[in-house]
Amino acid sequence: MPLATPDQYGEMIDAARAGGFAYPAVNVSSSETLNAALRGFAEARSDGIVQITTSAAEYLAGPAEDMAAGARAFAEFAHVLAASSPVFVALHTDHCTPEHVDGFLRPLLSESRRRRERGEQPLFNSHMFDGSELPLAENLRVSGELLREANELDILLELEIGTVGGEEDGINHERVARERLYSTREDALTVAATLGAGEGGRHLLAATFGNVHGRYSPGKVRLRPELLGELQDAVTKRFTATRGFDFVFHGGSGSTVDEIRTAVAHGVVKMNVDTDMQYAFTRAVGDHLSAVSTAADDLDEGVDKKVYDPRAWGRKAEAAMAERVVEACETLGSAGRTLAQD
Ligand SMILES: [Zn+2]
Repeated sequence: MPLATPDQYGEMIDAARAGGFAYPAVNVSSSETLNAALRGFAEARSDGIVQITTSAAEYLAGPAEDMAAGARAFAEFAHVLAASSPVFVALHTDHCTPEHVDGFLRPLLSESRRRRERGEQPLFNSHMFDGSELPLAENLRVSGELLREANELDILLELEIGTVGGEEDGINHERVARERLYSTREDALTVAATLGAGEGGRHLLAATFGNVHGRYSPGKVRLRPELLGELQDAVTKRFTATRGFDFVFHGGSGSTVDEIRTAVAHGVVKMNVDTDMQYAFTRAVGDHLSAVSTAADDLDEGVDKKVYDPRAWGRKAEAAMAERVVEACETLGSAGRTLAQD
């Protein structure tokens, strides 16, 4: 199955809203983690989303040190490999802060424009612009501009209101004021009045409800997923033609199944999962390497290639992460619900 077309991506989101489930959006940063996501979605018979952050894109670029080039190379690689996937997979770029719009988002939109002119699919199905550090009016002005450009290319835009706490990939909001972690009805109404709730150009909304990136001990973060229901109510009452927002859940690692299900019931269609995936992957590498370090070997007498071949730990890590992807699909209810026909 080639990567989800823009229409198929739209159908995926509609199916999630109608069916009361959500897709895991798995953060990846390498060919192994991409393959782990593809493997996990296939095993779960779930459609899904694979995403990269700006810093993962920079990492993927290696010595080129160009995040847009890294994202382009990654997307081309994913387009080829996803062709044999039995389920629909969509590609997304995660948090792009204002400072990276010109060096990351715009070059990727330009590349998608060139692809569209050649009659090909866009490079990515959706991009996130994270203007949460800006005053809301400015955030929505830039979001609106990018939304129009993206929609012209059949690409969706994800935007953020409120602020996701914690630290992820160089974006640090560990000291953000507590009330900023929760979006307000006024914020949601302003988004709907400015950009619509989908009818003014399709977008996904990361409205925060106490979300924090990374894994936190229970009790330290108070998630209020029911806040999403309050935002939906406020918006659908004021703007009666809308079905409300398609929400994105950030910082989902460490959340309880109840919190996740409540969020999904209030319109979350995409939940980002990063920390739990990183843990599953690296834990398997650690287990492999600790076995290596305790094995007596001598370089002069020849080392066991079966142990030192990077594929030896790569395969184990990929399998462990794929298993975690399957678990995420089950929790979010997307397992067994692929729209792809055999
Ligand atoms: Zn996030």
